[in-house]
Amino acid sequence: MATGTLVIDPGHGGAGNIGGSDGNHAVSPSGVKEKDLTLILANLVKSELQSAATAGGHTINVVMTRTGDVNLSLAQRANVARSNHADRFLSIHLNGFNKVSRGVETYVRRPQDNVNLADDKRFAGNIQSAVFNAIKSADAGTHDRGVKEEKFGVLNDVSLGNTSGGHCRACLLEVEFLDVPAVDVLLNTGPNATAVRGQIAKAIANAIINDLVHP
Ligand SMILES: [Zn+2]
Repeated sequence: MATGTLVIDPGHGGAGNIGGSDGNHAVSPSGVKEKDLTLILANLVKSELQSAATAGGHTINVVMTRTGDVNLSLAQRANVARSNHADRFLSIHLNGFNKVSRGVETYVRRPQDNVNLADDKRFAGNIQSAVFNAIKSADAGTHDRGVKEEKFGVLNDVSLGNTSGGHCRACLLEVEFLDVPAVDVLLNTGPNATAVRGQIAKAIANAIINDLVHP
């Protein structure tokens, strides 16, 4: 049985840059903005988690860094984990690069300033494999780009509270490359888009529960 607090951070929001967070980044060929899709996916993950918690007898408190089209600084997003004494922090993004590159990747804070690298990597690995498998089963064109290390402000251990008694495992998921036409069909405009979004959310929810049950 899982017990814990999860913070879900839908990337971006609003307009303009606030404390390192851009209002939006990737845009799909059909016009879907990353900031809107991250919020949609975050809400789906929340409801999947609540259903799974009820069905499995888990007690999971889900906190969102934003519920509307507003931007928060990277530190403010991480601070939501600190103030809620969160056990897990998941920032959800979609990539955008050259309209061709594809795949799923998950980031942890780089080793130089990460106080719980092994725990973060374990959590990130669970998220990465769950999301990759969910997308792969709907579209063989995806790739497993793996778990990577970066100096992302939203994964800062001071902001997350991990240097002041906290114990939050954190990672940032890049679901797929939103600027690629095939991904737009997969996630937004195709006949199975709603189902695929749901399958991704369900995979994330299951990965979080597994990570909480088997720390
Ligand atoms: Zn982003």
